[in-house]
Amino acid sequence: MSDASNAEPSNYVRQRNTTEINGTSRDLTYPPLPEALTVPVYDNHTHLEIADGIEPIGYLEHLDRASSVGVRGVIQVGGDLETSRWSAEVAANEPRMLAAVAIHPNEAPRYAEAGQLQSAIAEIAELAKRPRVRAVGETGLDFFRTGEEGRAAQYESFEAHIEIAKREGIALQIHDRDAHDEVVRTLKRVGAPEKTVFHCFSGDVVLARQCAENGWYTSFSGNVTFKNAEDLREALDVMPRALLLVETDAPFLTPTPLRGRPNAPYLLPHTLRAMAARLGTDVSMLAAQISSNTELVYGLWTDDPPVPDEDAVTPAALA
Ligand SMILES: [Zn+2]
Repeated sequence: MSDASNAEPSNYVRQRNTTEINGTSRDLTYPPLPEALTVPVYDNHTHLEIADGIEPIGYLEHLDRASSVGVRGVIQVGGDLETSRWSAEVAANEPRMLAAVAIHPNEAPRYAEAGQLQSAIAEIAELAKRPRVRAVGETGLDFFRTGEEGRAAQYESFEAHIEIAKREGIALQIHDRDAHDEVVRTLKRVGAPEKTVFHCFSGDVVLARQCAENGWYTSFSGNVTFKNAEDLREALDVMPRALLLVETDAPFLTPTPLRGRPNAPYLLPHTLRAMAARLGTDVSMLAAQISSNTELVYGLWTDDPPVPDEDAVTPAALA
């Protein structure tokens, strides 16, 4: 790697510039490492392409810190063409990373307005064929940030992404914000992929039961630790253990008691431990279960290992 500096992927391609959360200024330093897990888990959804904090850290440092506390691998998730290309490219070269690619539901209306939604989805379909791209996501519906005028584009995009996941036989990672019923209806109308994941699960017991009935996975993030999130914890209570996943959604949704500070895969143990405490189960038992669930959904991180390729297309060449 010594002479390949300009062929290596950039450390990140986005900058989070939120200095306040709910009107309160944030502590922009990364929290200390938690106690390491005995049984390792995977971070089922993270955005290492987004730099955060006063001293942002690159993806390799993120992955090193994660490994040191028992978070052995991540699913790196894109939300537009640039971040999806970056995710696919870095995963192709990094054994601790697999990728998910998609046009995010809040991005779909922007592409549609520019007349580029169909070509963008066509490129996602191509990226989804790559061996270390193991999920289509995040896709779905977001009625919180997108109004009526953007809904048609969201549906069109969501349905197309569902088809890509089915065609490639890979998982679907759903972003569902204030759109539970419509997400479920769309999945039933179009036909859900075999491995369907509600990322950053934000529903209640009703949605959890629907997921359980349909064999859909629920991925819990740091918000399950929030004080006002009793609904989420009740949903966790009713989910079959075989359908549980865990994620950070870093740099967002930092678990209690670190709320507001930059989030990272190495902070996943906080959320896992809070889930185990709620379920009254042993942390290692839960970690073993969730690891095995994760491998069932995405396959093994060691399958299709990165191979050094002189002719590899670099992010710079793709841009
Ligand atoms: Zn996300």
